[in-house]
Amino acid sequence: MATRNVNFNPGPAALPLEVLQTVQDELLDYHGTGMSILESSHRGKEFEAINDQTIALIREVLGLTDDYHVLFLGGGASTQFALVPMNFAGEDQVAAYADTGEFASKAMKEAKSACRVHVAFSSKEDKYRAIPPMDSFDIPADATYLHVCTNNTIEGTQFHDFPRTGNVPLIADMSSDIASRQIDYQRFALFYAGAQKNLGPSGVTLVVIRDDFLNTARQDLPAILRYRTHADNKSLYNTPPVFGIYIMKLVLEWIQRNGGLAGVERTNSAKKDLLYGAIDAAPDFYRGAADKASRSWMNVTMRLPSEDLEAKFIADAKNEGLLGLKGHRSVGGIRFSIYNAVSLEDIQKTVDFMERFQKSA
Ligand SMILES: *Cc1c(COP(=O)(O)O)cnc(C)c1O
Repeated sequence: MATRNVNFNPGPAALPLEVLQTVQDELLDYHGTGMSILESSHRGKEFEAINDQTIALIREVLGLTDDYHVLFLGGGASTQFALVPMNFAGEDQVAAYADTGEFASKAMKEAKSACRVHVAFSSKEDKYRAIPPMDSFDIPADATYLHVCTNNTIEGTQFHDFPRTGNVPLIADMSSDIASRQIDYQRFALFYAGAQKNLGPSGVTLVVIRDDFLNTARQDLPAILRYRTHADNKSLYNTPPVFGIYIMKLVLEWIQRNGGLAGVERTNSAKKDLLYGAIDAAPDFYRGAADKASRSWMNVTMRLPSEDLEAKFIADAKNEGLLGLKGHRSVGGIRFSIYNAVSLEDIQKTVDFMERFQKSA
């Protein structure tokens, strides 16, 4: 058995061990075909079955009706930052953005090359420490959509509710908290997520679009950049990220075996309670970086009394097999990325380490 460390990497991130083992078992000979799925045609029946099953699993796990298109695209979440405004806003139209973190801000900046941008809310001045009250969004009635980032991966804040937007379609970047809790996914006209945090490996991005909203998309773009093209072809207009979709299917089956989103949410809730509990139990030593009411269940950020202690914390943790704890280069500090595949036992080990570290410091 290989030695497995506790993996707190922010993305690409931990994958369930069972999923990796299945990939290993099936790698050389996929279901008796005598070849790897890596070597199989994306138009062959083996991959077609994987594609169809993954679409069905996304609908089932997230609770989506048939009027939602499920797409698997390349280019990462960052490509969606550009495709969303290109497809859904004209040059003289206004798109509204909530600026709650670095990725949200990147999405907003990218939109500026396609349309007019209205800042519905910004916490930039407050170093993105908090998510705003839901009634504080300023959404123009003629906005083509409001874009939010549901979990701010770098800062460690998360939307625990969503703004009521009336007739304005709600769009979300869910890269770092998709499928981690029970929410009403059907509140969104479109949402997307790079797979490499909660759904699989990097290289595939999930995009989900409600049909009536897709019907409002611009058709005067190059075919490859139109969501319509990919929706009409079940993401097989060109070669899709075949291996990533296959692993996503295995991850979704793992979620189902663990009680679906209800089960995953229960575990994630216990994980964040344990970890934030350890931070709050030593307020003179560990200091949570995010506003308490806005704390993320997925990315837990904290500071120590000095940068030297933070460096020692990271080094000592590494010696105990706790990896990937360095905060994002733009904010520093410590960040525990505790996506679905990080277990409650992993967090217990971490909390024990934190207690010992504090005593020895
Ligand atoms: C990681 C991340 C991204 C960037 O995704 P890429 O796949 O690297 O383009 C965008 N948004 C959020 C919220 C993220 O966590």
